[in-house]
Amino acid sequence: MDERTAPGMAGISGATRLAAVIGDPARHSLSPTIHNAAFAACGLDWVYVAFDVPRGRAVEALDAMRTLGITGFSVTMPHKAAVADAVDERTPEAAALGAVNCVHNIDGVLLGDNTDGAGFLDGLAADTGRSVDGARCVVLGAGGAARAVIDALARAGAAEVAVVNRSAEAADRAAALAGMAGRVASAEAVVPQADLVVNATPLGMRGHAPTFPCDPRLVAPGAAAVDLVYEPLETPWLAALRRREVTATNGISMLVHQAARQFERWTGQHAPVEVMLDATRRRLAERV
Ligand code: NAP
Repeated sequence: MDERTAPGMAGISGATRLAAVIGDPARHSLSPTIHNAAFAACGLDWVYVAFDVPRGRAVEALDAMRTLGITGFSVTMPHKAAVADAVDERTPEAAALGAVNCVHNIDGVLLGDNTDGAGFLDGLAADTGRSVDGARCVVLGAGGAARAVIDALARAGAAEVAVVNRSAEAADRAAALAGMAGRVASAEAVVPQADLVVNATPLGMRGHAPTFPCDPRLVAPGAAAVDLVYEPLETPWLAALRRREVTATNGISMLVHQAARQFERWTGQHAPVEVMLDATRRRLAERV
């Protein structure tokens, strides 16, 4: 079913609940596709839209959320830190990261969460069946996505979370999120022993040079690797890893599972993850 012609969209009424993504820009976001497909599949009288909110105006968007009674916001760049500062309450993940990607308006009290890390772990489990408890992990990159993954890996009991990054200062800050398990390293020093390697840089993304985030020959056969990039679905790095019998998956699962966590927080219902995945894949195929 096309989410634009789903029953929920045709039957908008005075009782329809609203959720939205705020970002600058937000109009290219896949979130409306993912969430409207889920609302339709569950027969929920909800609709999800995108609001372009200029940098520096996130607090006004939160005020509008309260005034208009909007139930949920997804938050994307560049507003995640400003929203983390401005919400009424934060989950432990949002507080640790200083970044919010999901706001739940509970009778005018705004709760900020960050579902990226949990979405990453959910996606990893769904794609590979692997747990990270006791695992040696390497995260390539130290930006927003990397930080969420590092925090989640440490919370889930990873034995080691090594951060490999171009800028040493960002690497130090990101590794500190993992506490005793965190360290900064070079790819050569840590990737060959790793059970899990995560690319959280944009290298390999459409529009960037097709450079590897680390030499695929460093990754041990039998290890797992996740490339958080999802455009394209198969990066040159993932293709090279598959040839080495590495269990290699792309970023679509994290994208959909972080949205599923948001859907569940707002609606209290179990998210139809397969429907959300199908809708995302179809929309990505249209964008190629
Ligand atoms: P970000 O905050 O801008 O961080 C980018 C990171 O990549 C930084 O650590 C940066 O290193 C590093 N980097 C950038 N260009 C590089 C280069 N040419 N060589 C080496 N390192 C480089 O970005 P982000 O939001 O974390 O996103 C990172 C990637 O994850 C993007 O591809 C994004 O699409 C993807 N992502 C996926 C999901 C998902 O749900 N699947 C969610 C969020 C993001 P420095 O610190 O040295 O600048």
